Amino acid sequence: MQQLTILGATGSIGVNTLDVVARHPDRFSVFALTAHTRLEQLAAQCHQFRPRYVVVTSEKTAQLLTQQVSSETVVLWGSEGLAMVASHDKVDMVMAAIVGAAGLMPTLAAVHAGKKVLLANKEALVMAGGLFMEAVRCSGATLLPIDSEHNAIFQCLPQSFACVGAAEKLSAGAPGNSGSEASNQGTSLPGVRRLLLSGSGGPFRIIPVDELTTVTPDQACAHPNWKMGRKISVDSATMMNKGLELIEACWLFDVGEAQVEIVIHPQSIVHSLVEYVDGSMLAQLGNPDMRVPIAHALAWPERMESGAAMLDLVATGALNFEQPHLQRFPCLGLAREVAKVMGDAPAALNAANEVAVEAFLAGRINFTDIIRVVDSVMQNWSMTEPSHLVMVQEADTRARNRAVESLNRL
Ligand code: NDP
Ligand code: MG
Repeated sequence: MQQLTILGATGSIGVNTLDVVARHPDRFSVFALTAHTRLEQLAAQCHQFRPRYVVVTSEKTAQLLTQQVSSETVVLWGSEGLAMVASHDKVDMVMAAIVGAAGLMPTLAAVHAGKKVLLANKEALVMAGGLFMEAVRCSGATLLPIDSEHNAIFQCLPQSFACVGAAEKLSAGAPGNSGSEASNQGTSLPGVRRLLLSGSGGPFRIIPVDELTTVTPDQACAHPNWKMGRKISVDSATMMNKGLELIEACWLFDVGEAQVEIVIHPQSIVHSLVEYVDGSMLAQLGNPDMRVPIAHALAWPERMESGAAMLDLVATGALNFEQPHLQRFPCLGLAREVAKVMGDAPAALNAANEVAVEAFLAGRINFTDIIRVVDSVMQNWSMTEPSHLVMVQEADTRARNRAVESLNRL
């Protein structure tokens, strides 16, 4: 019986994880659940899954929750509570599904404790990729990607590859330097020439570019294929999500940005691909349902049922691929520039983007202002190489302050 902690249990990934777990009561037991604002939902989850601990973000919500859960569940709050349930001796695996920068520290607590870490929170790796992978290497934690693209690539790599393996041979500094021929010739992964990340292009793939100024938050969150939290949905609409995923891929698989291509695939059936030097391309296909990568990682190295519908290839019909246009998706071009320099630039990119997306969702700025804000923060960003998490946090704070200044100037 595997003991599982879910960080961010009330979100889209958290709920999908509990759905998969409920299908396998003989394999998984829920050790702890955590959430931020959705207390009622959390209380219902506690009722169903009877975790030993539940963690919220403030003392006040902890007091409210205590009245709603049975006495067998201990209610904790704050960053110490999160770190405790992520690193507890009794825990075998941790689903890291808190959204945004808030996910970094609890995810790292799980990594430091050497857990099997199922990583959905891409922002942690974007912010602190070098330090994060170094921590994976030192602790012997097993890192399994949940982001569907990275999970697809993981599935298409040679079986001997595990993300912990990539971390073991990771050289200091930027990713992609540990292979002697890791340039135009290929990657440091044996026989692998390139990784291809696919992305649907989101809800605004074909609307006229000049109409982007007036799109609403609800339109931006209406993703054609995936049902996700609001922040990542906006990131999908700007394709900043694919930019963050490019950076995520560089760290997870130890490749340089030049070895990662991005293709638009509107049907979201091919979740990503690996190109080998002999001309073979391996892809992972499936219906767009996050329970597939979640079940894959939960059961890894075995397989188990996820609850997702089987893919009907004939009913699916044509699969299309096209190049992303940077005029429509300028966030993608900016993220690639950031991936070229790395250091603390991705932390700044992520922080500025979080501020801008929050302002857009609150109705304070237009959709097209998101790139204006993020771009203004990244212009003249003097990159430093963070040797400690404090430096990452400083870059995050500085970028947030600059983003707020930029918002106020709009
Ligand atoms: P949601 O917004 O649906 O859920 C986020 C979760 O994090 C909720 O449980 C929320 O609690 C909790 N949370 C939010 N802010 C804080 C905070 N400050 N401190 C502690 N907990 C907090 O997001 P998703 O599930 O969509 O995404 C989660 C992560 O997974 C993101 O990093 C995203 O990029 C990544 N991801 C998601 C995919 C998807 O299909 N959804 C696909 C690939 C990656 P509450 O709801 O109670 O406020
Ligand atoms: Mg993804």
